[in-house]
Amino acid sequence: MNLRKRRYRGGLVLYEVLMKTTTSPQPATDEGTPVSVRIRERLVQARKRFHANDNIAQFIEPGELAKLLDEVEGKMQGVLDSLVIDTAGDHNTGNTARRVAKMYLNEVFNGRYVQAPTITEFPNAEHLNELMIVGPITVRSACSHHFCPVIGKIWIGVMPNEHTNVIGLSKYARLAEWVMGRPQIQEEAVVQLADLIMEKTQPDGLAIVMEASHYCMAWRGVKDMDSKMINSVMRGVFLKDSTLRREFLALIPRKG
Ligand SMILES: [Zn+2]
Repeated sequence: MNLRKRRYRGGLVLYEVLMKTTTSPQPATDEGTPVSVRIRERLVQARKRFHANDNIAQFIEPGELAKLLDEVEGKMQGVLDSLVIDTAGDHNTGNTARRVAKMYLNEVFNGRYVQAPTITEFPNAEHLNELMIVGPITVRSACSHHFCPVIGKIWIGVMPNEHTNVIGLSKYARLAEWVMGRPQIQEEAVVQLADLIMEKTQPDGLAIVMEASHYCMAWRGVKDMDSKMINSVMRGVFLKDSTLRREFLALIPRKG
């Protein structure tokens, strides 16, 4: 650090502190701009949607996720302050802002900020063409409306063809985890998952059923502890072939 003296018209002398790294000002990307604003600018420029359940990983540069964590922590601390919680005096909430920021970015909403899991695909060497069902896979998400947990199960029915890429059973769970790891709307979540599995494996048909408890119904609102939402999405041969559709629905032991 060094000091530079600057004299103004009135004779006033100001000392400017010059940091070694000082460079010419860069309005949009200077150090003072929150990292979320920089990421948002890239998304807007690319005309990419960034709804709660969109993945934005390709717009985040290396190192920015850590900065985003600091930024969310700061804003979360503001929420706690506005809730009039004495986080300085209360040993329980002293580190809550940081914990919540980490929970959002690194865990429950991580599917927004990281790339899709890499899935090894194998050619369908055995030419499997029988209905295959995977599930129940436990899925955890949060609703976009209240950020309350959505916890449930999904069943995936796949009708492969000779050209279908086969992926290991556990990979369906990883793809589901990535899609559900965002603030979601159940109807949109199953469609996103169906699109992803169709793109990765290109089967003749795909069926997904999701059954989940929405904690915004249990913890608040109508306080109904038992209601579940069930929805499904069918693609390819499952749309055309009602027998196949019935076979899939009969085979998933939802009630048990
Ligand atoms: Zn909700």
